[in-house]
Amino acid sequence: MGALVLVGWAFNFEALIHLFPTLVVMNPTTALGLVLMGCCFFILNRRTAQGLKPHNLWTRSLAVAVTVLGLLRFVDYVAGLDLRVDHLLFANKLSGDSAYPPSEMAPNTALNFLLCGLGLLLFDLEARNGFYLAHGVILIAAWVALLAIIGYTYHVLLFYRLGAGLPMALDTAVGFALFCAAFMTAQPNRGVVAILTSRTTGGAMARRLLPMAVLIPWGLGAILLVSEQAGYFGKEFAVSIFAVASIILFTFSLWWNARLLHQVDIERLGAEDKLRQASSNLQRSNTDLQQFAYLASHDLFEPLRMVTSYMELLEHRYTGKLDPQGREFITFAIDGARRMEALIHDLLEYSRVDIRGRSFEPADCEQVLQAALDNLKVAIEESRAVVTHSPLPTVLGDRVQLTQLFQNLIRNALKFRGRHEAQVQLHAERRDREWLFVVRDNGIGIDPKDFSRIFVIFQRLHTRQEFAGTGMGLAICKKIVERHGGRIWVESVPGQGSSFFFTLPVKV
Ligand code: ADP
Repeated sequence: MGALVLVGWAFNFEALIHLFPTLVVMNPTTALGLVLMGCCFFILNRRTAQGLKPHNLWTRSLAVAVTVLGLLRFVDYVAGLDLRVDHLLFANKLSGDSAYPPSEMAPNTALNFLLCGLGLLLFDLEARNGFYLAHGVILIAAWVALLAIIGYTYHVLLFYRLGAGLPMALDTAVGFALFCAAFMTAQPNRGVVAILTSRTTGGAMARRLLPMAVLIPWGLGAILLVSEQAGYFGKEFAVSIFAVASIILFTFSLWWNARLLHQVDIERLGAEDKLRQASSNLQRSNTDLQQFAYLASHDLFEPLRMVTSYMELLEHRYTGKLDPQGREFITFAIDGARRMEALIHDLLEYSRVDIRGRSFEPADCEQVLQAALDNLKVAIEESRAVVTHSPLPTVLGDRVQLTQLFQNLIRNALKFRGRHEAQVQLHAERRDREWLFVVRDNGIGIDPKDFSRIFVIFQRLHTRQEFAGTGMGLAICKKIVERHGGRIWVESVPGQGSSFFFTLPVKV
């Protein structure tokens, strides 16, 4: 629009200077300002789309030029300095005695250049809570432009002319309004526009109401004004039609939106009920399952102990009286019973983590580690392992379970040590609101595809002949860490050792 008007001024095209015949014309310097704004905005958008930082030297310079243009003219107008900023271009054609229509940059135009220039400068600056300062400034400019357009529609000079000079031209107002609309929609997921474009009920409501709020009063007012001027009816009648039509249209739109909210609320309440039900069902079945696992393993333990003891007694007393095959059968039976005992023992430990867990208290991890090392004394001496550690913090937790956690991880590091002597390092560091612990070894390592599998109950990567175990150790570790509000995971390179990481919340 600015460029068209400039061409008009440069080559004396009446039609281009007078985009809206009979109305005041756009000043050439105003046209230049619009062109600068458009160029700046264009580059900003291109750079954003290319994933670059929006501003570069060009965009900054253009935005500053627009701001300074507006500022100078505004100050000029308010202080009466007669700087003649708006005579920058085609000064000879603007002098009083030329054949061209009179033209100057109106104070509201200057104000809008100031606001739009600032908006462009602040384009990518995020203020608090996702609110963009630029959006605030541009919204004011949009209102100034809209006021002028409405003023033109209703012939209310006060809306588009500030003070005694010439008013803002209609094409200038339209140019500003289009610019502001483009600016606001350039970043649809940010600032004030984010609500309009969002998928929430708020977004749906805003999209329905906003056009109605602008178009109904504006359109209705214009129609009635024209009709009244044409003499179809009197002023009182026009105003009362406006009032009645507004009441009807707004009541309808209110009801329409209330219905939307009502439906969404009913669906939400229904979904909440279902969720609550599902969550309580899940909790109940989880508790039942825990109880079942606990009771089953607890009650199985006793008779199994009896089977093992009597089989051992049988082996002890009657070995000499049996043939070799009979002796072999007894050995198999005892082996099976012992394995089952180990499995049930670990299952019991596993279900105890939640059911028999003690309340949390400050636990010094140095002491916890010492207790774990004491329990593993024999295994450490046998494997001639070296266990080192950096200073460990005090955390809030169940001391017995934390000891078990350290113990299981260190025991695994000793067990899966490979050919060299085991070296186990423990380290803890603070990460924001949690402590990150790592137990690092130089053992056989784990294939990355098994990283998550090893934390599942009864999951093992080796046969009993290679390494003893039940596959419950890490599952118990996971349960303990999760009960304390942390996470556990492993990183490893096969053949080079493993690092078990777990987090515990910082004591508050
Ligand atoms: P278990 O030790 O009784 O087999 P775990 O649950 O403690 O059961 O461990 C599961 C599997 O994870 C083990 O069978 C082993 O293959 C692997 N694993 C655990 N810790 C280590 C470690 N430090 N180094 C290598 N492999 C490990």
